[in-house]
This record gives sequence, C-alpha cells and structure tokens, in this order.
Amino acid sequence: MQALVKAHPREGLWMCDVPVPDPGPDQVLVKVRQTGICGTDLHIWNWDEWARSTIAVPTTIGHEFVGEIVALGRNVRHLSRGQRVSGEGHVVCMHGRAARAGRPHHCAQMDAIGITLPGAFAEYLVLPAVNAVPLPDAIDDDIGAILDPLGNAVHAALSFDLAGEDVLITGAGPIGIMAAAVARHAGARKVVITDVNRGRLALAREVVDAVTVDVSTQPLSDAVAPLDLGDGFAVGLEMSGAPSAFDAMVDAMAPGGRIAYLGIAPRPMLVDWTRIIFKSLFIKGIYGREMFRTWHKMIALLESGLNVGPVITHRLDAADFASGFAAMRSGQAGKVVLSWPP
Ligand code: NAD
Ligand code: ZN
Repeated sequence: MQALVKAHPREGLWMCDVPVPDPGPDQVLVKVRQTGICGTDLHIWNWDEWARSTIAVPTTIGHEFVGEIVALGRNVRHLSRGQRVSGEGHVVCMHGRAARAGRPHHCAQMDAIGITLPGAFAEYLVLPAVNAVPLPDAIDDDIGAILDPLGNAVHAALSFDLAGEDVLITGAGPIGIMAAAVARHAGARKVVITDVNRGRLALAREVVDAVTVDVSTQPLSDAVAPLDLGDGFAVGLEMSGAPSAFDAMVDAMAPGGRIAYLGIAPRPMLVDWTRIIFKSLFIKGIYGREMFRTWHKMIALLESGLNVGPVITHRLDAADFASGFAAMRSGQAGKVVLSWPP
C-alpha cells in the first residue's frame, strides 16, 4: 500500500510502498478515507529537535483520520466490518494506576499513532479496537478527519462552565477557532479571540460569531474596554503557545478566573506568578483528549449543530501532500485534509 513515511533522517516526507498491516487479536484494520495534517506532522516534516529525538526512521506518520473497518482481530466483538470510524491516537495501557482509576488518558507509558506507532497517512491503519470511535451519519468524513484537534478544543473549552460567561481565547489557529465555536455553542456570553495573523482572524470570523482582536496592532486591553465585561474574563483558553499571549491573558482575567492551558511554548517561559496569585486564578493544563469522555461530548456537540466545517480550508488528494504541507507552512491555512488512496 501507499503510505507517507518519514523515510530519511532529514527534512521532508516520502510516499512509499509498505506492506498492509495485519490486525492483532485486539486490533482493527481501517481502510483510511481522509486524514488531517496536524502541526505535529509539520514538526516531523521539518525534522526539528523534537522530531529528531522522538521519531524512529522509517515511520509512517499521521494521526487524524476517518475510515472504514475492513478486518477485526479475533477478540473484537463490539465492532463490525463496514463501520465508519475515527479514533483516539493516544494508545494507552489499561492496567496502570491512572487507567485503573478511570483516567487512561494519563497513562505514563503512552504510545502515539503516527509518532511512536505506524500512522494514518496510509491506505490502511491498524489500531487497538478500544481506540476506534464509530461515527454517526450526522458527522461527515471531512469532520471525521479532524476530530482529534476538535477534541483538543472540546477538552479545553468544556473544562469549565461556560454558559453565561465571558471567554477569552488566545491564538486563532484551528484549535483556538474550534474552541471559540464550542464556547459559543455552550452558551458563553462574549467570546473574544486574539491572534497576530490577520488571515487567521478572518477565518475565525467565518467559523464563529466572536470578537476578533489583532494583538499585533492593538493592545488587548484597548480592544476589550468597549465590551463592558466588568472585572474581566471568567474563562481563558490559551491556544497559541506564545508566552506574551499568556501574559496578556493573565491581565485580562477577572479575579477567580479559570484558564485552560493547551498551547505549547517552544522554550521554557518566564511567568510572573505574583499576578496569578493576587488574582486567585486557576490554571489547568490540557493534554490530548479525555478517553473517552471528550469523544462523547464532541459527537453530541456535532449532532446538536456545532458547525466547524469552514475551518477546513484545503481538501487535497494525498498524492498532493507536498502542497498540503506548503499550505500548513504558510500560516494562512486552517485545517488541511488529504483523501486516500492517493
Ligand atoms: P497553530 O500554530 O496553527 O495556531 C497558533 C496561533 O497562535 C497562530 O495562528 C499564531 O499566529 C497565533 N499566535 C502567535 N502569537 C500570538 C499571540 N501573541 N497572541 C495571540 N495569538 C498568537 O496551532 P494549533 O494547531 O491551532 O494548536 C494550538 C496550540 O496548541 C499550539 O501551541 C500547539 O502546539 C498546541 N497543541 C497542544 C496540544 C495539547 O495536547 N496540549 C495538542 C495539539 C496542539
Ligand atoms: Zn494532531
């Protein structure tokens, strides 16, 4: 089969012929239909320091996918051939302390599809049956391909009660934009989203009814002054990874405000903790998705009308993967979706 492989320890990815994998007793074989390109995949393409220390060469990459089950391991009874599925890319052990306490997503021995395990940028993918998530008809293949990052957005946004609250999102990347849409759907009062990239803010306005602020031209405090928020934002969702965005967020929060922190700073960052202490802020780190509560929530949100479709700006054949990665690199794309087989 054709698969997109990190075949050499240098910049780039290569479409290669690799064997179709065989599902083990507790796994399923999925014929991949569509996949989403993640920022992580761009790191792997670029072969940066993180990628060099994490990815074994050769590895088939990709972890955002939708497809159809075509074969089942002999122990798998709860799924069937022909079922349309997406799935959780974090592969965890189910016997560690965290899993036995009901938190498998906190597994200390986590593997990841398309990073430490063969990935979804291929005609076929094997994954543990427990990781496969069957999709209702209301979720089309396009959205099915981006449930992993939508799950990041849902995990962060629904960490706190949003109904009636003012919500600040820093970073209008695909995850920040989808988090804004989730906040709006969950009944937030004002939703404000910031970025330094005008194209990204324009995309945000296409997806969600939110106030957009270009913090490269206007301080956040000036932009929110006319909104009459009272003390500030009750909820903050950090989705840029920019230390200055977190700094501005701390200033804009109301006393007692709650922050979900998803963005990943490229380097260790300096934090003025005194301001956080004096405002009694609560900060929650967000990694991945809760298994599988986040999946239940996001499917229900989509079935009840959450629309994140316009965040997909590029639909390409997998053979055109290089154009897809170029679009990602430009910083102007939303989600880029590749269809399989190439
Ligand atoms: P992205 O890089 O596409 O989006 C980040 C956005 O932040 C960009 O549009 C950028 O212009 C903007 N930005 C930069 N500086 C800013 C500033 N000072 N103020 C406001 N915005 C600013 O990333 P994404 O795919 O949407 O992911 C969002 C973040 O979450 C990234 O940092 C990513 O590494 C991280 N991430 C974390 C997890 C997790 O499990 N914690 C999972 C996926 C992604
Ligand atoms: Zn991803």
